[in-house]
Amino acid sequence: MRGKRIFVAAAFYTGCLTLSIHTYTEQLSQPVMEDYGRLLPVKIKKVQKMTEETELQKIIKEANASNEKISIAGMQHSQGGHTYYPGSTVLDMKGYNKILEFHPKQKIIRVQSGATWNDIQRVINPYGLALQVMQSQNIFTVGGSLSVNVHGRDIRHDAFIDTVQSFRLLMADGSIQNISREEKPDLFYLVIGGYGLFGVVLDVTLRLTEDELYKKRTRVIDYKDYTSYFRKNVENDDRVRMHLARISVEPESFLQEMYVTDYMLAADQERRKRYSALKEDTNIVLPKFFLGLSRYSGWGKTMFWNIQKEYFERTDGSYETRNNAMRSDTAFMEYESPNRTEILQEYFVPINKFSVYIDSLYDVLEEEDLNVLNITVRYVKKNEDAVLSYAKQDMFALVFLINQGRSKSEIEKTEKVIQKMIDVTLQHDGSYYLPYYAYPSKQQLHQAYPRIEEFFMEKKKYDSKERFVNLFYKEYRE
Ligand SMILES: Cc1cc2nc3c(=O)[nH]c(=O)nc-3n(C[C@H](O)[C@H](O)[C@H](O)COP(=O)(O)OP(=O)(O)OC[C@H]3O[C@@H](n4cnc5c(N)ncnc54)[C@H](O)[C@@H]3O)c2cc1C
Repeated sequence: MRGKRIFVAAAFYTGCLTLSIHTYTEQLSQPVMEDYGRLLPVKIKKVQKMTEETELQKIIKEANASNEKISIAGMQHSQGGHTYYPGSTVLDMKGYNKILEFHPKQKIIRVQSGATWNDIQRVINPYGLALQVMQSQNIFTVGGSLSVNVHGRDIRHDAFIDTVQSFRLLMADGSIQNISREEKPDLFYLVIGGYGLFGVVLDVTLRLTEDELYKKRTRVIDYKDYTSYFRKNVENDDRVRMHLARISVEPESFLQEMYVTDYMLAADQERRKRYSALKEDTNIVLPKFFLGLSRYSGWGKTMFWNIQKEYFERTDGSYETRNNAMRSDTAFMEYESPNRTEILQEYFVPINKFSVYIDSLYDVLEEEDLNVLNITVRYVKKNEDAVLSYAKQDMFALVFLINQGRSKSEIEKTEKVIQKMIDVTLQHDGSYYLPYYAYPSKQQLHQAYPRIEEFFMEKKKYDSKERFVNLFYKEYRE
């Protein structure tokens, strides 16, 4: 009897030991993933690359059989873990990047979702064509850009959704659907700006526009004059096709001085060919050096602001094609400090509230300790088509580049300031952009995105087993 008990105990012990060794080995072999924000390292199951649609279908089928979670990743420049989830299989879409169809006369292109803007620009530029809406940089994937519904320097189109004709979606049940405003419109408005939660965008058909030659006009102005400057000289002048502004972060002129760049249609479009070669890597040594200085001191910020301003003033009257204006370099922003990182925040505010909003923001930032390195300002035309749309009116979008520590206490400190900034933004009928770190509270999310509950309910309708997940969903849904 005693011998039997000892045998059972030994068998139980061996079983437990084997199980824990197995779990431990499995944990050790799990890769850790993080995005460009570097604030959310998480163990995932694996990264899966692919080049064929059939491979993607097989992955979904297998995930359904084994009940695995799936996340979808483009270039992973979103900063709130939107591309991964604990224990999930991450689909790395970068190799799924073919140009499938190009009809220059109709100004239409169909591309796989892992293609970057750069891949597309290389194909369409020789035909004198350009993208209608994209970010200022061309490093991002089409799938990642569609899933956050991007906006850029163009002021004559709305957000990205305006330029999408249709796309194909591989859904959680393994089916492939054609989606457009006419076919399955509900999915069209959910998936664009839907953060990869409804399935894998396979390929996208986009409307293109003419590549044009622009003459740059730059002005230094006071923030109080910005709205009237914009209304008079930009919005009401059809020749202005793109626009970008910056507002000072250096101590003396903090949130006061601005400079603007307008891209005016050049009178002589015949000259476009002379400027049409796509610009490649620019020299980043100086901007990288001055951005580096500005991270550590007020005088560094003053130096960087003055140099930037002078540089932009010198570009007044110079020419650039649309394609080249949409190829800005980000390499100078690369930052590899082990303890610190750089995050983005973006707030939208109605254009007629800009100067009172800046005053309120000033009050918050004067009291708080936040290392803001740069603020750019863009214009986003009203568009409420996407369920998670951010432009309820014509808005100015302020993009903040912020340097912060990576420790828990630094994250908490930044969260406190950012929540205050978002409160001020919401008080001015504004909104904020979702692809960044989940600093905003759930309540702020609901206020900025009143259709968020509908969005989550539709997600469960189309993906009842929550096959497609990411940390953004985990943070705000659970
Ligand atoms: C330096 C910098 C500048 C920026 N400038 C701008 C700007 O000017 N305007 C602007 O609007 N935004 C801007 N952003 C934000 C940027 O547009 C988004 O983060 C965008 O998603 C990045 O594209 P990505 O390829 O890195 O996408 P990822 O970050 O990889 O993915 C973004 C989302 O899309 C989903 N996704 C990716 N591919 C697919 C697919 N094939 N099917 C389904 N879902 C998919 C992911 O799951 C994720 O939820 C900027 C970001 C940075 C870091």
